[in-house]
Parts: sequence; C-alpha cells; structure tokens
Amino acid sequence: MSRRPFLAGNWKMNKLVGEAVDLVKGIVDGVKGIIDKDILVCPPFTALSEVSKIVKGTNVNLGAQNCSYKDSGAYTGEISPSMLLDLGCSYVILGHSERRTYFGETNEIINEKAKLAISKGLKIVYCVGEVLEERKNNQTFDVIKKQLDQVLYNLDLNSVIIAYEPVWAIGTGLTASPEQAEEVHSFIRKTVSNIVKDAGKNFDVNDLVILYGGSVKSSSIKGLMECEDVDGGLIGGASLKAEEFLNIINNAK
Ligand code: PEP
Repeated sequence: MSRRPFLAGNWKMNKLVGEAVDLVKGIVDGVKGIIDKDILVCPPFTALSEVSKIVKGTNVNLGAQNCSYKDSGAYTGEISPSMLLDLGCSYVILGHSERRTYFGETNEIINEKAKLAISKGLKIVYCVGEVLEERKNNQTFDVIKKQLDQVLYNLDLNSVIIAYEPVWAIGTGLTASPEQAEEVHSFIRKTVSNIVKDAGKNFDVNDLVILYGGSVKSSSIKGLMECEDVDGGLIGGASLKAEEFLNIINNAK
C-alpha cells in the first residue's frame, strides 16, 4: 500500500494572474521541506503558465480544472490535454459537480476526457458525489456506483485519484461528518475493487487515493483523515488563502 496524504486546491474561477502568483508563492514557501505529502494546486487556465514557472522544481504539483476530449483541431474555446502538459500540468480535475451541473457534463463525456487525458500522460482527479435530494432519498450509493462504473471501466487506474464531493457540502459550509465520509469512501474502494475484477485489470485497490471535498477547513481535515479510507482533501474556498491552505496541509495526518 503506497497511499500518503494528498492535498489539492481547486481555485475555481478565482484569481487574476498576479493574485495567483502571490498565492502560489505563499504556498511554495510554506510547504518547503514537506516530503511525505502530495500537494497540488489547480489555478484557472489563464494563470497556469505563470504559476507553472513558480512551482517548477518544487514539491507543489500543477493541475488544471478541466480539459477537452479532443487533443487538437477545430474546437473553438477548448483546451487540450497536450496543451496542459505543455504548461507543466501533471493533473486535471474531471467531473466536478459544477461542470456536471452548469455545463451539462455526463459520465460519458467525462469518460472521453479521462481516456484522452490519461493516454497523453496526465493524472486525473475524478469527482463523484450525490446532491442533497439523492442523499435524502437513500440514492447516494446508487449515484456514486454509476459515476464510477460508467467512467472508470476502461481507464488505467494508476492514473486516477477519486474525490468524493457530496454536492450539498461544496461551498455551503456544511462538511460531511467523518462517519458519513468514511461510509462513502469505503464504498468507493469496494466498488472500484469490483470494477478491477470485472474488467480483469491489474490494480491493487489499496493504492487508490480517495480525497474528500466539500467545505474542508483546517479545523475539519484532521477528523476526516483519521478515517481509514480518506486519504486527503480537494479544497475549494479554503485553498484561496495561503495561510489556511497551509494549515490544512499541516493538519492532514
Ligand atoms: C470544490 O469545489 O471542489 C470544493 C470542495 O469546494 P469547497 O471546499 O469550497 O466546498
């Protein structure tokens, strides 16, 4: 088993280039010497180039928040996996609930993006999670199983990190309790184990990194990470200030 704490910041559509540079400088300075955790920042596309120059050669990895399912050509407005690699990205977030909700991304589209991104050499942070109504109707496991089954079946799982992000917890200040998180995280590991078996894949599911996301703060990360199957966090709002993101990283054990 080779899991270690993984802390990722999703900056969403925030930070102009100068602000992004200031933020990442604070993070890079604050994490110097940390060698037992994986750290990832995902700025908006417009800041990737400048942020990339600052994280180069450090222990901070660079990721994007989305990519195209095509790698080049007449797809106005799209950004391809090769373009992200060219800018120094090693990760891309896919399937975030905001992309599913506001931009109509389905499991099928996300699978296309994931296949291409991985084939080009990116790792993906694949987000899954239920909306409040689904939780209330006891559909959480069904929804997540479908999100996993329909996207992961033909992917190289060595390039996949899963982020469980209950949609009702994203940006709302409501965090899943450690018990609620662990219940779903262990379900995710079991479901991926079944996918591995069904597809005859050679992958040890104990190596799968599963992040929790949804209003994580420096005060909540410790309790969440005490859960056996919670390996880290995907952090939105609280990753926009270097001090709070660094506190989260330091409290993640
Ligand atoms: C996210 O957008 O991935 C997220 C978890 O946001 P927040 O931490 O702000 O809830």
